[in-house]
Amino acid sequence: MNRSEIIDLRSDTVTRPSAAMRAAMHAAEVGDDVYGDDPSVNRLQDYAADRFGYEAALWFPTGTQSNLAALMSHCGRGDEMIVGQDAHTYRYEQGGAAVLGSIQPQPLVNQPDGSLALADIAAAIKPDDLHFARTRLLALENTIGGKVLPPTYVRDATLFAKSRGLATHLDGARLMNAVIASGQSEREAVAGFDSLSLCLSKGLGAPAGSLLFGAKPLIANAKRWRKALGGGLRQAGVYAAAGLHALEHQVARLAEDHDNAVHLAAGLAALGLNVEPVQTNMVFVEIAQEDLAALKLYLPEQGVIASLGTRTRLVTHLDAPRDKIDTALAAFGRYYAVKQHATATYRAAASPAAGGLPPGLAELYSGMR
Ligand SMILES: *Cc1c(COP(=O)(O)O)cnc(C)c1O
Repeated sequence: MNRSEIIDLRSDTVTRPSAAMRAAMHAAEVGDDVYGDDPSVNRLQDYAADRFGYEAALWFPTGTQSNLAALMSHCGRGDEMIVGQDAHTYRYEQGGAAVLGSIQPQPLVNQPDGSLALADIAAAIKPDDLHFARTRLLALENTIGGKVLPPTYVRDATLFAKSRGLATHLDGARLMNAVIASGQSEREAVAGFDSLSLCLSKGLGAPAGSLLFGAKPLIANAKRWRKALGGGLRQAGVYAAAGLHALEHQVARLAEDHDNAVHLAAGLAALGLNVEPVQTNMVFVEIAQEDLAALKLYLPEQGVIASLGTRTRLVTHLDAPRDKIDTALAAFGRYYAVKQHATATYRAAASPAAGGLPPGLAELYSGMR
């Protein structure tokens, strides 16, 4: 199958740079960013800091590194961060904050809307006592699992953290999806946070890169950690040009991804599947255990790539426009139609009126009933 025909719904990280983005990368003026003299990186950082209302911004090759450098800039050895059980910085970064940053995570249960209950945060903050780690930071994530944190919650949580002397970090890998879905302004959405990490390489479509935002001293500190973590790239302007193109031209179109997610969810629900409510570009659908093996074989044959599980996450993005979503829905539809037909045929053949199946076949098809 031609690569351009494949429908990859595993993640919005699979997006490839558009022709216009490649042209911007091709034309990028570059320098050595470790010396701070890559004009394209500097342009992106200045532009982004101003746009989001921070003193400074710093480009990173990945969001994992951007988050880690931020956590290490807020917290020293033996300090503690309060974070969600489901947060990327706790669960999906190999525990880097603890392993590499000597930071103790205090994970809290995420509420169904993705938030951390203020009462849980309050109870987790340790008193100033030599038995305890020093609680320094509250880290939130938006969007989280495709959900937008309620803006009033974000305001309350960041104000509360501040009132208790905690710094605040937002893992905003998909912040722009939250902004588009909530209708908040970018600055409003991040106003309460001392630092923000934003991915350029997810729905925004750059091939690599994240930005960390904060006050100048924090960003200076993070720049030191970035070098120690191996993230001091040289002619990074090639990437920065892609990031700038993404921020300038590929934000508003995220609304299309959200519309496509709603369309995909409705199509799957019409097949009788249980689908969770959609807020941004992620669809979570329940797939019965008995269908997993067959779908894992059938969907790739039809050009549909998905991370199939009993709770399957499908992610819409700029390389999966409406016609591809419909192609994917048609593939799911064919599978369930064939299954229904086969089951009906089996039932008819196995019915007492038809004399029942011969013993050998009954055993062979025992899963079908
Ligand atoms: C993707 C992602 C990151 C960073 O991932 P990288 O692959 O390292 O760029 C961080 N946080 C969240 C919530 C993410 O989805």
